Amino acid sequence: MAKYDVTIIGSGPGGYVAAIRCAQLGMKVALIEKYPTLGGTCLNVGCIPSKALLDSSHHFHTAEHSFKEHGIDISAPKVNIKQMINRKGDVVKSNVDGIAFLMKKNKVDVYKGFGSFENKNKIIVTQNGKTETLDTDKVIIATGSKPSSLPFITIDKKRVITSTEALNLTEVPKHLIVVGGGVIGLELGSVYARLGAQVSVVEYMDGIIPTMDKTLGKELLKVLKKEGIKFYLSHKVKAVSAKGKTVTLKADDKKGAEVTLEGDYCLVAVGRRAYTDGLGLDKVGVPTDDRGRVEVDANLQTKVPGVYAIGDVIKGAMLAHKAEEEGIFVAEVMAGQKPHVDYNLIPGVVYTWPEVAAVGQTEEQLKDAGVEYKVGSFPMRALGRSRASMDLDGLVKVLADAKTDEILGVHMIGARAADMIAEAVVAMEFRASAEDVSRMSHAHPTYTEAIKEACLAATDNRPIHM
Ligand code: FAD
Ligand code: NAD
Repeated sequence: MAKYDVTIIGSGPGGYVAAIRCAQLGMKVALIEKYPTLGGTCLNVGCIPSKALLDSSHHFHTAEHSFKEHGIDISAPKVNIKQMINRKGDVVKSNVDGIAFLMKKNKVDVYKGFGSFENKNKIIVTQNGKTETLDTDKVIIATGSKPSSLPFITIDKKRVITSTEALNLTEVPKHLIVVGGGVIGLELGSVYARLGAQVSVVEYMDGIIPTMDKTLGKELLKVLKKEGIKFYLSHKVKAVSAKGKTVTLKADDKKGAEVTLEGDYCLVAVGRRAYTDGLGLDKVGVPTDDRGRVEVDANLQTKVPGVYAIGDVIKGAMLAHKAEEEGIFVAEVMAGQKPHVDYNLIPGVVYTWPEVAAVGQTEEQLKDAGVEYKVGSFPMRALGRSRASMDLDGLVKVLADAKTDEILGVHMIGARAADMIAEAVVAMEFRASAEDVSRMSHAHPTYTEAIKEACLAATDNRPIHM
């Protein structure tokens, strides 16, 4: 029987990163994955394929709407969805192959099959009816998450679909109905809206991306409406049915009036649930909470000594980089080190165009906590860089402590905000004040100048270009 220091179940960004860090720290590592390729949701059906399609559709949209003004005359571009999906497949393949290479490089033994507990030191790997047992000192549960749905919706995976199917459509929908105005709904809704679909987003709350700072949702709503996406906010979905090529959604608006939408696809994007099916947690006595997430302590260890859990399967934001940080954290805890993850400084990004990005506390959270704060905002359209690229939408909003000027939150929407947010993370990690950042030179012309200007605005209302 193979014997390991640590066995990791699940090869997503949590599991594979933990595997590498454990190997770097000298542990003998086994990694179990039930799917044929490594990389989990993120690489196979999440972050990477969605960003590939967001990029392709953005190019199409730019060619269709902006080339002429840039002085580039082309005949009307056409969508070749088959090629777009094929390219996305190639991007996924090169990424998952990269993980297989990294496992070899780090001498991690990869087991293809379904992992489950026999006991806390014996893990069974099942594939095609054959089983193998691994002897292990410690275990990391990194089994991730699956799309959730609503009790009255049947996901038939053809017309009523989740993000996984939406990443593999063979045609551009005529009318895509999206249930949920969160991250997946808006990213994948944007993809198909740019490619010519009519897109309708039905959201239960009174705003989109409701967990982010309200300013961002309001600004994004304006832009996406301009792009032609229709929004049904404060709508309670009560039925979704499919017949032939038609899907019908029924919802009640906030006054209780029934609204009916007909389309050819319905994407259900109302969140994801922790995935622990078939793991045998009960056999080892690892408890889950009321949302099915594996319960862990501050060291990400379950109630059972030596059994840890990370990523989407535990509490917290369901983000690839959060799972990665936890993978490293657990490896270092096992090695006797004292690592730290600052959950307040895990950035959140929505890859629409403009992009939305944030780190730290929202204005609503600061109000609720009774913290006295100052706000500095700066519109992207006031930047030379924005005018040069015709990407004028958006703003940067900096929240700083009213007395100390320490930056408490940065919220932005604009071109390349996904990359720009890193500056705010670094500043906040070093507990910079808004004035600190405002006195740092920012290359001109760049979008990052909006961060400097918003910090100037937050410090004592003295932006230069506004
Ligand atoms: P997962 O990536 O879910 O990996 C878990 C793995 O465990 C899977 O491969 C699964 O097959 C395997 N597994 C489960 N049970 C077993 C078992 N018993 N035996 C063997 N293997 C098992 N996050 C971002 O940060 N940025 C983004 O841009 C982003 N975009 C996304 C887009 C979409 C469409 C979706 C759906 C998600 C996106 N996410 C994004 C979220 C991100 O994918 C997840 O937060 C991340 O993948 C979680 O990593 P994980 O390692 O915890 O789990
Ligand atoms: P989400 O939590 O971001 O959004 C779900 C939305 O559905 C919310 O706005 C919610 O109010 C709405 N909703 C819930 N019930 C509803 C109902 N009955 N009717 C109408 N609306 C309803 O979830 P998601 O978009 O499915 O994404 C799942 C997870 O994947 C998220 O946690 C996210 O962090 C992660 N993800 C991240 C990225 C990224 O980082 N760019 C991209 C995609 C997914």
